[in-house]
Amino acid sequence: MRHHRLLAPGAAAACLLLAIPASAADATPGAPGIGDSYYPSYGNGGYDVSHYDLRLKYQPKTDRLEGTATILADARQELSRFNLDFALDVSEVLVDGKKAAFEATGDHELEITPAAPLASGRPFTVVVRYSGTPSKVVASGFTSWLRTPDGGIAANEPESAWWWFPSDDHPLDKATYDVSVAVPDGTQAISNGTLQSTSSQLGWTRYNWRSSKPQATYLTTLAVGKFDITTDTTANGLPVINAYSKDLGDNAGAARASVERSAEIVDWESTIFGPYPFDALGGYVPNVPTGYALETQTRPFYSPKGFAKGANTSLIVHELAHQWFGDSVSLKDWRDIWINEGFASYAQWLWSEKEGEGTAQELADYTYASYPADDPFWKVEPGDPGAENQFHDAVYDRGALALQALRNHIGDKDFFAILKGWTAEHRYGNASVEDFVTYAEKVSGKPLAALFDTWLFTPSKPAAAQARAAEVSPAEAPVRPKSWQRIQDTHSAHGR
Ligand SMILES: [Zn+2]
Repeated sequence: MRHHRLLAPGAAAACLLLAIPASAADATPGAPGIGDSYYPSYGNGGYDVSHYDLRLKYQPKTDRLEGTATILADARQELSRFNLDFALDVSEVLVDGKKAAFEATGDHELEITPAAPLASGRPFTVVVRYSGTPSKVVASGFTSWLRTPDGGIAANEPESAWWWFPSDDHPLDKATYDVSVAVPDGTQAISNGTLQSTSSQLGWTRYNWRSSKPQATYLTTLAVGKFDITTDTTANGLPVINAYSKDLGDNAGAARASVERSAEIVDWESTIFGPYPFDALGGYVPNVPTGYALETQTRPFYSPKGFAKGANTSLIVHELAHQWFGDSVSLKDWRDIWINEGFASYAQWLWSEKEGEGTAQELADYTYASYPADDPFWKVEPGDPGAENQFHDAVYDRGALALQALRNHIGDKDFFAILKGWTAEHRYGNASVEDFVTYAEKVSGKPLAALFDTWLFTPSKPAAAQARAAEVSPAEAPVRPKSWQRIQDTHSAHGR
């Protein structure tokens, strides 16, 4: 627009007539959801975020969180208004440095009306000042914020961000992050990626974390509490940062004996899945009463209960496999959860085989046999389980069984080439179940629609003949692999 003066007067006038009124007239509100088939109100339309800068202060005694979020985004349409997903109290919103009108609507929507419409394709900056007591804020009937005796934790799926930062809350809109958190001296703040620096002033210590690779909102985590932190460097030079709540009690040893093996497990997984996609790794175990674990990017969250029966490397294998399957290659729609859980579960089968606790084939045979045909397990289609069954056992067990069926059908050479090629082709992006089927057909040169229909998209137990065709034993009572129960334990307590 700066070049108007170079145009002939007539042309400039035509340009102005077209440009200015068109912009105001064409501007419409961004959609309040990104279009997810399971969660229509999650994420938003009309823009794409590239970076979140979160500057926070948290007081563990009162669970009071104060923050300023600076969000860099690009408009994808002429925007008269747009939404962020958020549940805490907002005191001020600026768009490109100018005060914007805002209103909390629905269950978790923050509607923002900038002073003037935003032109399509134009980068813009949103500043949101906010505060709240996240454990007391109910949205969709619950709070995801976990309180501990000495702090608070944000780690849940799919809903986690609403309680600590405003966002475009869907894996389709990944971004980089700087998360800076001030906590009282003697308390630590853990987040994703690398710890850039810490500083202390007037009784408060500030932790500055950075995620330099694209990261989904639900994979962005915050843990405040009193932690023992261990640091190391992998053989490849990646920083390892692990954190353990100081009050893990009897689970402390087993938690460390598991999470301290993260670097070794990432090295092993890299030989199967290809290069590790991120620039840091680790894990953390806060003193929460929950039972689940979550693949928060570079630094999975583990509940102490996961180690109640002793060390559990299979659990570490699962959450770290997600760094490739789910975190780097993210789903397009929550319906595609199998591209996360099927592969993370299959990684546990491969680990079991490596550890001599049962081969992937034995686990497949046992999975097929252990659920009778009338078990509700077979009613859930791993390829489209429904929001209410998104974390059903079938997504994990039948999901892994589908991969063994594929492996038997196309052979080891193509199967393992697909695991590496898939993570390379979609690195830092998004993909669907259908994308995987297409990719596997391309690499193997075989039509695979029928095989995936049988194992992912049929709400009943595949018949004995179909099992035989996939080289899965239809026998009724195969030997139970040693790793079976441990694997069951790792995915029995997902969700809220
Ligand atoms: Zn998982």
